[in-house]
Amino acid sequence: MSIPILTYHSMNITNNTYSGNDHVALAADLQMIGDLGFRVISLRQLVDWHTGYLSDDQMINSLVITMDDGAWFDYYDLVHPVCGMQRSMFNIIRDFNKTVSTNKRVQATSFVIASPEARLSLDKSCMVGQGWWNDQWWSDSVASEIMNIECHSWDHVHPMLEHVSQCNQVKGDFRFINNYSDADVQFAKAGQYIGQILGRRPDFFAYPYGEVSDYVVNQYLPTCVSEHGYLAAFTTQAKAVTKEDNIWALPRYVCGRDWNSKDGLRELLISCLE
Ligand SMILES: [Zn+2]
Repeated sequence: MSIPILTYHSMNITNNTYSGNDHVALAADLQMIGDLGFRVISLRQLVDWHTGYLSDDQMINSLVITMDDGAWFDYYDLVHPVCGMQRSMFNIIRDFNKTVSTNKRVQATSFVIASPEARLSLDKSCMVGQGWWNDQWWSDSVASEIMNIECHSWDHVHPMLEHVSQCNQVKGDFRFINNYSDADVQFAKAGQYIGQILGRRPDFFAYPYGEVSDYVVNQYLPTCVSEHGYLAAFTTQAKAVTKEDNIWALPRYVCGRDWNSKDGLRELLISCLE
């Protein structure tokens, strides 16, 4: 048995076609996923299955939807400076949920960057400097039961930041988080910040750039649970999750990289059934 996790990036907006816009892709995919007879379950249900709390029978034909980075395009409808009005990922799911029965409603997970300073800086350098990357929507999003909030590191070791929480200032590659003091910030401090906003610590972590050091997977995450509080972590290895996968390195497919059309996703999902 294997369960695919699909990952979208709401800031992927280069035009208004499927392959150039993750909002267009998500709207089309939700329709197709339903038509194929797949059911979208929450990330928590997948982890409960992996851990043994839910049986294989309860997971047949299921998949999970996640978003990375946590910019406003996840939650708010916004006018993109080049491509015009964009329905948010949240509202695309809400629109879809209005058309289906209760048991087919979709709940997605948004992995957010925790550091407010990093988001403020990235909003200026990577978006349009409109304040479209703050955390004022996180609590409402969780309360809606449409999009849960989990952690995507403290600062994404993002190359556009002047200073990152990596001891040698290696940016753009999360595999260099390979020691306790850097991990303590990227995992524990990030969880603490998100916890202050939500009133509960995040349970799940998605690695920026999808790859991670052996130190984090084999030492820090398994042995420092009382400090960081996470239950599972996610890469972007292109495969569906099986029970044999390490709970600290569960794989995810990425829209654009692993499929870029409705037919492409259909093929990918059918291959997961085999
Ligand atoms: Zn990211």
